[in-house]
Amino acid sequence: MPKRTQAERNKGFYDAKAERMDRTERAAHKGKEALRIFKHAYENAPGYRKFLDERGVKPETVKNNGDFVRLPVLKKNRMPELHQNHPPFGGFLAVPLEKLKRIYVSPGPIYDPEGRKEDYWGLRKCLYNAGFRPGDLVMNTFSYHLTPAGIFLDEACNGIGCVTVPTGIGNTEIQVKTMAGLKINGYIGVPSFLLSLIKKMEELGYDTAQDLAMEIALVAGEILSPSLRKELNDYGIIVRQGYITADLGGVAYECPQENGMHISDDLHIEICDPITGEPLPAGGIGEVVVTDFSNECYPLVRYGTGDLSALDEDECACGRTSYKLKGIMGRADEVTKIKGMFVHPRQIDEAAAGFPKEVEKIRVIVTREGVTDMMTVEIQLRQGVVRSDALKASLEEKIREATKLRGTAVFVPEIPEGSKKIEDKRNWQ
Ligand SMILES: [Zn+2]
Repeated sequence: MPKRTQAERNKGFYDAKAERMDRTERAAHKGKEALRIFKHAYENAPGYRKFLDERGVKPETVKNNGDFVRLPVLKKNRMPELHQNHPPFGGFLAVPLEKLKRIYVSPGPIYDPEGRKEDYWGLRKCLYNAGFRPGDLVMNTFSYHLTPAGIFLDEACNGIGCVTVPTGIGNTEIQVKTMAGLKINGYIGVPSFLLSLIKKMEELGYDTAQDLAMEIALVAGEILSPSLRKELNDYGIIVRQGYITADLGGVAYECPQENGMHISDDLHIEICDPITGEPLPAGGIGEVVVTDFSNECYPLVRYGTGDLSALDEDECACGRTSYKLKGIMGRADEVTKIKGMFVHPRQIDEAAAGFPKEVEKIRVIVTREGVTDMMTVEIQLRQGVVRSDALKASLEEKIREATKLRGTAVFVPEIPEGSKKIEDKRNWQ
């Protein structure tokens, strides 16, 4: 396989007409499709009908997109329970079981059905737009059994004309020998494993300048830090992220701009308040709520993924007109609403990271005085660090920057082992 330049990989669209669609036209299309799949789910998936009936929702009252956003969010973390009460799919399957192609098993256990439609998971465009091209020789290091990642990405590779080497997870040495022996130029898997493969290669005495043919990687399932991306780029590898899940398939993908993930045209996304399910104003960080209108078998409507992100509505220089997700910023069940703002543990760590020499441990205690939330930030200083008003003031400043909230810093002798980063002590009675 001849080498492809990065410019060649960055050029072109999987489906230019769809990806460059006028924004108003796309929004209208998505709105219409969301309503259609909602009706389909209500009529054909008894589990979804029950879910709405129990909440007193009358489907005939959902006439437009304004009504649609008031539908209750179906939380992903409730699915194991719903599935177990009515096995095997909690009543969410909208076609007879024999219409399926495969059934995957995710922890829970949750059974994820796959229908027979071509490119069922919408992953071909995700691979193509990330930079994979026909003829690429791709090692797929995701697992090929139980969970879908291995097989569904394998099929997507096939669908765009790539050749796969299904290595799955496991024996690094065999993987390295295969990678060098076949001059593999594409990688699919978690980003850290690609780096371990390269390090192993060096350890085994290979010369990466000669023996490493890797040009392009699609990574998912793990946070890609800028430093890890840079390290892999230094080996001449393009690294692009995909937001891919076992129940929705391809949700969003990075383009050559590498500053956010374009939302797939197969689904409608809202960024919502994780507690009320209400859509947030543009740019706000909230839960990714998905309505997948491409899936007639297992239609998910206002499905709360539990992932936190924000929308980027700016025009992308790549020419794709879809909105982007600004990466996955954490888990919705870890956020706490304080004074009307969502605070994630990572924001607290971010504040502490500004004081590597002073701060040993940090946690937030939320209490309520009357109708006002109070945020107290407990700080355990490193040994030998002297408590001072100046340090207290600069800590409070950093906390305000990271959380957009005013909190009171207090120095404590010790933060107990295993305590939560945000301790909510408010009494709602
Ligand atoms: Zn783009």
